[in-house]
Amino acid sequence: MTVAYVGLGANLGDARQTLKDAVVCLAQQAGVTIVARSHLYHSAPVDADGADYYNCVVALETRLSAHQLLRLCLDIEQHFGRERPYKHAPRTLDLDVLLYGEEHINDTDLTVPHPRIAARAFVLLPLNDLRPELEIPGHGRVTDLLAGVADQRIERVALCCCPNKRAANTK
Ligand code: ADP
Ligand code: MG
Repeated sequence: MTVAYVGLGANLGDARQTLKDAVVCLAQQAGVTIVARSHLYHSAPVDADGADYYNCVVALETRLSAHQLLRLCLDIEQHFGRERPYKHAPRTLDLDVLLYGEEHINDTDLTVPHPRIAARAFVLLPLNDLRPELEIPGHGRVTDLLAGVADQRIERVALCCCPNKRAANTK
């Protein structure tokens, strides 16, 4: 079993609901056990077009290989209507393999740790929810990396938005 971290992002359609559904979908896959989920965040696009993103990170235990996990992530993106009209286009769902155990992988399909893991607040804040002391190979501890992304706009939001509660609050 390997502990892996997967980052989820979405900024097209009902992005908040998609993230919720995608975590459930991941949890239902053979060979994957979700062990923790971060808070949900709302973040400004970084090097990308379109609306603000919703983001979270899950920690999972898996008996899939890193490449099998990537394939699964790409299949789930597809299931949720992911299209790639151009690089960094808005997306219904993005699933990135952030870490796979302590492995370093760098081939044509997969780079792990994810190349931008230490440069994005929407990855580091959720990771900090799960494992602040986690050492990102080649970069340092998650908690120590937060200062470097402090200028990026991001806020924590509730994972689900209950319509009944909202209606009650407006009365
Ligand atoms: P991005 O997430 O950078 O906007 P995409 O989601 O369109 O880009 O992914 C493009 C390709 O990136 C995927 O087909 C995959 O082969 C490759 N890739 C390399 N490393 C990773 C990783 N760690 N996680 C997810 N995709 C990766
Ligand atoms: Mg991706």
